[in-house]
Amino acid sequence: MWNPGRAPKWTDKQIEKTNSVGANYIFGTIRKIKWRQLAFFSWKYFQGALVFSRAKCECGSAQGKNTHQHVLFECPIGDFPWDDVVEFSSNFLESPICLENEYDIWHLSNDAEIPFQVKLAIMCGIRARWFTRWVPPNTPSTRLFQKYLTEVASADLDAANTVHNEEERQQAITKVYKRWHVPELFKLKYTSLILR
Ligand SMILES: [Zn+2]
Repeated sequence: MWNPGRAPKWTDKQIEKTNSVGANYIFGTIRKIKWRQLAFFSWKYFQGALVFSRAKCECGSAQGKNTHQHVLFECPIGDFPWDDVVEFSSNFLESPICLENEYDIWHLSNDAEIPFQVKLAIMCGIRARWFTRWVPPNTPSTRLFQKYLTEVASADLDAANTVHNEEERQQAITKVYKRWHVPELFKLKYTSLILR
C-alpha cells in the first residue's frame, strides 16, 4: 500500500524510466503534495500502477498493446490538457516547457530546477487527461485541470491555516499566496484558492 514515508518499490516501468532520466526527485516531490488524492494518483502513475486495459485500445488506432504514452498523448478519445499545463506553467518559468510525450513528463518532474508549482501542474494535467479519457461523458480536460489546481492550491492554504501560532500562521499564509501568485492567478473564496 501507499506509504509516502517509505522508499518506493521499483517497478519495471520505473527502472526503464530511471535508466533514461532518473527519478530521484519525483518521489520527494510527491511527498510534498498536500492534496492527498493527487499525491496518491501521482504515486500510482509514476509506479506504473494506474489501472487500465493493456489490450489494444478501443479507439481503434493502429497499434498493439495499450500504453500510458498512447492514453496520455495519442488516444483520440477525450481531449488533452497539455496546452493548459504549458500556459499555466509559464507563470513560473522564463521559457515555456515542452510536454509532448511521457519522456517530457518524467524529465520535467525529475528536474531540480523546475519549480514545484510547475510539477504540480503537470501532475494535475496527467490526472485531467486520465479522467477525461476514462470517465464518460468526457468532461473537458480544461475544466478538470482547473478544478485540480484549485484543489491543490487550496490544500496548501488549508495546511497554512492550521498553524497554531498566529504570527507564524500569517507568515505561512503569505508564503502560500506568493507561491500561487494570489491574487493574479488565484482568488480567495472563503478558505479556497480558486484558479481565475
Ligand atoms: Zn486509444
